[in-house]
Amino acid sequence: MSKKKVEYRKMLNATQGLKNVMGRHFLAIEQAYRDGKPTAWATSGSPVELLYAMDVQPILPENSATISAAQKYSKDFIEIAEAEGFSYDLCSYFKTNVGAVISNADLTKGGTGKPTFMLSTDVICDTHVNWFEVQAERLNVPHYTLDIPHVVSNTNNRQYDYFKKYITEQLYDFFDFIQEITGNEYNEEKAKAISQNSWDLSMVWQDIYELRKAIPCPISTRDTFGGLFPLFTMPGLKEPIKLYKRMYREAKTRVDNGIGALEQEEFRLMFEGIPFWYNLKFFGMLERWNSIIVYEPYTYAFSKYMNPKVTKEMVLSQPIEAMSELMLSFWYIYDLKTRIKKFEETVREWKIDGVLLHENLSCRPNSCGLYDLKRHLMDDYDIPCLLISSDMNDPRKMNETQVINQIESFIEILRKRKKK
Ligand code: SF4
Repeated sequence: MSKKKVEYRKMLNATQGLKNVMGRHFLAIEQAYRDGKPTAWATSGSPVELLYAMDVQPILPENSATISAAQKYSKDFIEIAEAEGFSYDLCSYFKTNVGAVISNADLTKGGTGKPTFMLSTDVICDTHVNWFEVQAERLNVPHYTLDIPHVVSNTNNRQYDYFKKYITEQLYDFFDFIQEITGNEYNEEKAKAISQNSWDLSMVWQDIYELRKAIPCPISTRDTFGGLFPLFTMPGLKEPIKLYKRMYREAKTRVDNGIGALEQEEFRLMFEGIPFWYNLKFFGMLERWNSIIVYEPYTYAFSKYMNPKVTKEMVLSQPIEAMSELMLSFWYIYDLKTRIKKFEETVREWKIDGVLLHENLSCRPNSCGLYDLKRHLMDDYDIPCLLISSDMNDPRKMNETQVINQIESFIEILRKRKKK
């Protein structure tokens, strides 16, 4: 295709299909409630594939909380939760969910109906577990928690194997828990088919990320921040795979024709952390400095098949063991040393000029270690970094003017470095 025939567009046309895909997810939830089919709230990082394999409709309250924020309801819901006694400093996803449930909000406002049971894990944070403990008690539903040990720099092979076995045992125990509540039995063949789809979905997402290495970058956060959701709400279904393949093909055409998501690309950035869902237009504002975010560890992390030990063959032949292995290697639970290494590699491979680090006032796992990370990246690798303080779902904690001023100065530093 000639360069002239490809239209310059900021967002991929294919990404428009996201609304339909997510719309079908919410229709499936409504249908499940209507038909009395088992439903489960699940925290991100939990093995949602296994819920699909057990014929249980998953609902991700974090995804719902982002809808509340995007629709400008999160502040009200958070204040309702605070009026119930939950602290100003607690996770704003949690408080959004508490407020949405108390308000009986519908799905379009980020509401989540009472499920048959809840599944949480501490793979990303202990807030997930405490959140569901609170809500399970308030709604009077059963709650299952997967306890995931963290691999650190001095974890040896024997411990690692033990961790894996420990998680696998919990997963089989979880099947018994579901069977007892719903009567649904674990079906290995169905689990393998779901695992195949989950693998395929993640691989296309990783391929999309590979295309973002191109200069100019064909995809911006307009595609990835929303595009992320099927990865953790619908892993194992076919529908989102088609969407991602369309996104890939369109982005590839842009790359082949030297077309970027920005008309003029000057600065390539990484954004670490959860975006401000109530103010996504903020990211478009970077364009005024010809800047584009080309990599977000947050949206990449959910394409979970990054552990080289977990091959496609393993996923298809031993889906439960593969899931256990994956839960030990999630991007967000890397220790500081591994995280620094991953950042350095990513900056090099994606040709990134500077890193924006979101110190998220709601989220300890996201913010913990950011100062050390920043110091090492700057001192050891000469990578410019800027730390921004805000919150992903609570607009009261965002000082937009201050953040814009910080970014403007940061871009000025990047500009001077380029001129050297
Ligand atoms: S935002 Fe952070 S603290 Fe809140 S649920 Fe997510 S990972 Fe946990």
